[in-house]
Amino acid sequence: MPQIITQIANKMHISWQKELANVVTDPKELLELVSIDANKYLQHFKARQLFPVRVPRPFIDKMIKGDINDPLLKQVMPLNNEFLVTDGFSTDPLEEHDTVAKGLLHKYKHRVLMIVKAGCAINCRYCFRRHFPYQDNSPSKADWQEALTYIAEHTEINEVIFSGGDPLMANDEHLRWLVEQIENISHIKRLRIHTRLPVVIPQRVTLALVNVLKSSRLKATIVLHINHPNEINTELDDALAPLISARIPLFNQSVLLKGINDDAQILSALSEKLFDSGIQPYYLHMFDKVQGVAHFEVEEQTAINIVNETMAILPGFLMPKLVREIAGEANKTPINLT
Ligand code: SF4
Repeated sequence: MPQIITQIANKMHISWQKELANVVTDPKELLELVSIDANKYLQHFKARQLFPVRVPRPFIDKMIKGDINDPLLKQVMPLNNEFLVTDGFSTDPLEEHDTVAKGLLHKYKHRVLMIVKAGCAINCRYCFRRHFPYQDNSPSKADWQEALTYIAEHTEINEVIFSGGDPLMANDEHLRWLVEQIENISHIKRLRIHTRLPVVIPQRVTLALVNVLKSSRLKATIVLHINHPNEINTELDDALAPLISARIPLFNQSVLLKGINDDAQILSALSEKLFDSGIQPYYLHMFDKVQGVAHFEVEEQTAINIVNETMAILPGFLMPKLVREIAGEANKTPINLT
């Protein structure tokens, strides 16, 4: 036991940048790390040509060893099903190609979504942005400046949402600069950060990041992306503690995924665990119909049944809202549960 504690302590001393440089990109290595015979799954590996494999090691540590159906492994394991072309699925289901400035999407009247950084620490196979042309929208500081000018000129905007990719892929100094620029735009009241990075590399919650958010005049919130209770462990709790102490509200959004969390017991366990960790369940997203990942789809009626079952287990304040994003709609569309 003392040896395990020492190993965990040592891991927490690895910087987030080192973890990032050390992500697993080879599916064979991924399977070997979770004690699965990779030779049985070689036929699936070519799906990495469609979307590269990227899995940080702290995320792999949370997987159940020897289980090919582990719910965390299934989120990152390439499958040859990804080559199937399915009617009704597209490469840009939310039509996010309409940027108003490089890396800036203005889908909602009062909010803008700023692609602070292209790319993520982890590549989730179901990602609705897996075909997004990140290389054309990878913003530089000059692009950020163009986006800031747009935000300053549009006084109806009161909230900036940092997105990506994952915005926490930007380093703390760059984030500090960006937050300061946004603070100088008087009509912006709130800053929201959508990120999965603390879940997959908990060391990303640095003191410098907490200080930037804590000392800002903007009301900062963080929306995490956690799909399964096994993604929450003591390392994540420890990483989030300084944000909670700094009174930065933490929310969670999940995606309803077949074979991963399409079950009332799993969803209720997730909400309970989120709340124990100081995170408020917020949205449960219907899957976005992105080409190549139809095998994750949960039909709408099945989703409604699962959510109704979950509501019978959980108190109302732990129920995330079941929603779907529809291209061109001004906000997320709640799913009618009756
Ligand atoms: S973290 Fe989010 S944006 Fe990045 S690959 Fe996963 S689902 Fe997509």
